[in-house]
Parts: sequence; C-alpha cells; structure tokens
Amino acid sequence: MFLSSPDELFPQPKPKRNNYFLRAKKAINKQWKAPENRPPISHKYYPSEFSYLCPRERVFQHFDPRPRATDKPSEAMRSEAGKAMHKYVQDTFLGPLGLLKGYWKLSQDCYEDRNPFYGYMPDEPCRFEEEKISNHKLLDDFPAYTNGKIDGKIGKERYDWLLDGMKGDPPEDGDIDYIWDFKFTSDRNYSSIKEAADLKDYYLLQQEVYQEMYQCPMSIFMFVNFSTWEYKFFEYESEGKLFQESLKTIREIEEGMALTVLPDTFACSDSDCSRAKSCPFKEDCFCGKSLAEILDENTT
Ligand code: SF4
Repeated sequence: MFLSSPDELFPQPKPKRNNYFLRAKKAINKQWKAPENRPPISHKYYPSEFSYLCPRERVFQHFDPRPRATDKPSEAMRSEAGKAMHKYVQDTFLGPLGLLKGYWKLSQDCYEDRNPFYGYMPDEPCRFEEEKISNHKLLDDFPAYTNGKIDGKIGKERYDWLLDGMKGDPPEDGDIDYIWDFKFTSDRNYSSIKEAADLKDYYLLQQEVYQEMYQCPMSIFMFVNFSTWEYKFFEYESEGKLFQESLKTIREIEEGMALTVLPDTFACSDSDCSRAKSCPFKEDCFCGKSLAEILDENTT
C-alpha cells in the first residue's frame, strides 16, 4: 500500500467542533426568528432598500409577516459594523477636520456644551440631535412615506478646499451643499470603480432618494477600501430619473396593500432563481392564485 501523505501514517486528531459556539449560534438564530422578537416591518421605505424592493414580497409581508432571508444575526452584525465604521470616519477624520456639517455630530468627548475638538457645526456647535428627515411624502395618491438620514452634508467651498489639499483655514460656507455618502467596500469592488460611470445603479438610486428628500441635487461619494483605507471621491448630479422610475414600484405596493391584490411585477424570473429560493413567499408567489385566495387558505 502506498501512502500519499505522512498524515496517513500519523493521522492528525480532528479539530474538536466548538459546541459552545454552535449551540450559541443556534440559540441566537432561534431567538431571532421567533415572530415576537423580529424587528417589525415598517410601512415606511428606506432609501437603501429602494433598489431591492420586490412589490409582491412587500405586499405579502404586509398581510402575512414572515421571517425574511435578511432577518439573520449575521446581517445585523454586518450592519452594526458598517455603522461603527461610518462613525469612526465621521468622528475622527471628517468632523475634526472641519468638513461635515448638518447631520454630523461629535458624540464623543463632548461635555458641558463644549466641544474639545472643533468639529464643523455651522449652526449650533455641539448639538446632540441628529438631522433626520422622517415622513417625507413619496406619493400623493397613496400614503407612502420614506425616512432616513444621510451620512453628512458638505458645502461646495469646503469640498473644493478638501480636493485642493486643505491649504490654509477652511473657507466660509456658500449656498451650495452636497450630500455626503460613505461607501466602505472590499478591495475588489474598490478597484472595479475607477470613474463615476462605474457607479452601480443601486448606489445612485439611494442617492437620488436622498437628493429628493433633502432637495439637494448633488452628491459626493467617498469610497473607502476597508482593507487598505485608501479612499477616493466621485461626484454625482442627477435628474432623478431612477427615483421617478422607482416610484412606480412604490405605487404598485401601496395599491396592492390598499386593494388586497398582488402586484404584477415579479422580482424573480422564476421560482428557481436565487432570490426566490430564499424568499419566504416563493410557494404562494408562483401558485397562480389571487392574494385573497392565498390568505384565505393560509388562515384556515
Ligand atoms: S418569490 Fe421573488 S417575485 Fe415572488 S415574492 Fe418572493 S422575491 Fe418577490
């Protein structure tokens, strides 16, 4: 008999499975999936979800809430990690440099209304409130609202000053503001975006929603490579075409909820596509029955 590796002669012990970890993971998943523990599905729309909305799924969820594929601890952890990275850059870089205004707030080392750093807050120094737009009305014929908050705003003068190497003191503010958006991204994605034309529609759509909410026609994307911390900027000025198109989807959803009908638009090409496989409504969605019939069957 021939041995293909020394391991066959001296077998290595198999690493023990970490049962504590596996049990904890199972318990967290179970807890997370319990209907009473799941985060409620809001009737509001968030700018980040516009590009991913499935009208049918949203209507199903309205009448018959079920755990979504994204209702997982790992997704929540990813989102929390993203928020922490945003905050780090805001609090330790852009704020103290005197760049962001509006939403940006210095939450650390801030006491007795005094701010030991000189974060740029043109209106009131050291405010603890967040600038958040809620209940921004999307449609006139249906009660569709969105809410959300941006990563920050920057005056045109200060953006030019930044690009020019921040020579001298920060300039005074003019009338033009840009919406500031961070994108922390992998090395591969970072390298694939070389110019503004490479920006994907889902980035642009989210910005168009914010531009509409804040009545601010221009955005700056700051892409940060989370492996190397390199960064680059892209400007985006839109006419809101993507946003206008997405309003059709919102209208379909609102109409479906109001009239108890399933929208005709499918996000999936068929029941075998990857999105359908993780959709909790796959069976109902492709069964060919009306929403009223499906709801009737599911409750009896
Ligand atoms: S299966 Fe696809 S089209 Fe149907 S509800 Fe789910 S995501 Fe939407």
